[in-house]
Order: sequence, then C-alpha cells, then structure tokens
Amino acid sequence: MNIIIFGAPGAGKGTQSDLLAKNFSLKKISTGDLLREEINNKSDLGKKIKDLIEKGQLVSDEIIIDLIENIFKDQNKNFNFVFDGFPRTLKQAEILEKKLKNYNEKIDFVFNLEVNRDEIIKRISGRIFCTKCNKIFNNHFNSPLSSEHKCGDSYLKKRADDTVEVVEKRYDTYIKQTAPLIKFYIEANNLHTVSGLSSINEIFGQITSLIKQ
Ligand code: ADP
Repeated sequence: MNIIIFGAPGAGKGTQSDLLAKNFSLKKISTGDLLREEINNKSDLGKKIKDLIEKGQLVSDEIIIDLIENIFKDQNKNFNFVFDGFPRTLKQAEILEKKLKNYNEKIDFVFNLEVNRDEIIKRISGRIFCTKCNKIFNNHFNSPLSSEHKCGDSYLKKRADDTVEVVEKRYDTYIKQTAPLIKFYIEANNLHTVSGLSSINEIFGQITSLIKQ
C-alpha cells in the first residue's frame, strides 16, 4: 500500500505520516527530511538547497526525483510507502506515477489535510523542536515547558524556515505550485480531504477508517 499525505506546510503531514508508518508498517519518505540531511552534509548541493528552503521556495524537481529514484532502487520490490511532502509539483506527481507503474505499483490513497492560512502561520511561527529527541513542540499549544519533555531547554531549536516571513512565502509557494495537485488526484480518484483542524487522534481515526472501508 502506498499513501500520500498532502497539505500546506504545517498542516500536520509529518505527525500523521509517522502514525501511518507505525500502524500500517509503511516506510515514511519525507523529502523535507532528506533535504535537511543533505544540508547537514554541508555539500555544495546542500548549500544550494539551504538557500532555496530559507527563501520559502521549492527545490528543483530534478533534485527531488533523484532522491526518490535512489530510494526506489533500494526497495527490492517492497513498496509500502507513506510520502510526506512529496509530490509537491505536477511534474513530481506525474513522474511518481510513471515510476510506480514500472514496478507495478500505484498510489492507493491521497489524504489532503485541510488547514486555513491563519492557522498555518500561527502553527509554524510557534513551532520548535528538540535537537536531542527530535520531538516537535509548539509555543502556542504544546509548550515543551508544560509537557514531560526531559532533555532540557538548551536543545530546543527553531527551523530556519519557520519564521513568519518565510512561512508566508512557503504558503504562497504551496498555493501556486502544490495546491493544483488536488485536481490531479481528484481526477485520479484517490483523494480524500480531511480537516486538519481536529485533534491528532481524531484525524488519524478518520484516515484509518477511510483505509479500512
Ligand atoms: P513543510 O511541509 O512544513 O513545508 P518540509 O520539511 O516538508 O516542511 O519541507 C521543507 C522545505 O523543503 C520546503 O519548504 C521546500 O523548500 C523543500 N521541499 C521539501 N519537499 C520538497 C519537494 N517534494 N519538492 C520541492 N521542494 C521540497
């Protein structure tokens, strides 16, 4: 089974794809995480990627397709993926479809997490994460100070692209380049829109029942 978790930045794609990966034994592919790994490698390519991400722009389709191609090559015909943050352009969606077809595979479900712009800006501008345990917190709703987080404040960090300025650009990029994919997947007949404003468990419950239907 292959699933795409779709939505604007901050819609909750990462959280829901982690839950899907765990509960349905899927391998999570987050292009954002793969790109951040490349940045941490401090390669020339990493520097280019960092620059684009921090401007709120997309990385080129060629780079993304190379990343995905490498993962597919290593899969040994075991395709059970949940894609988080990919595809993000029509070209990426078309190439994904073609590549899956080569392996006799397809996308079974696309879950579109719907969240309005104001909520997105609020969520992302408050987002922080712990560099030690990798947990994500939010100053507005889920403060690391009021939770059981034990690593200590010195590990808390903000992603460089999580400032209000960059988030506004990322949202515009989403509307212009990524949101048109909704039509693509409606036509492919596998899009399910779920409100991303409900609780994490409620959203996951809805996704699970759609899969099991
Ligand atoms: P979010 O979904 O919250 O924006 P991600 O971690 O998925 O965060 O992505 C961070 C950034 O990485 C994006 O703003 C974009 O610049 C880049 N990126 C991630 N995935 C893709 C992709 N499939 N195509 C192009 N750029 C991407």
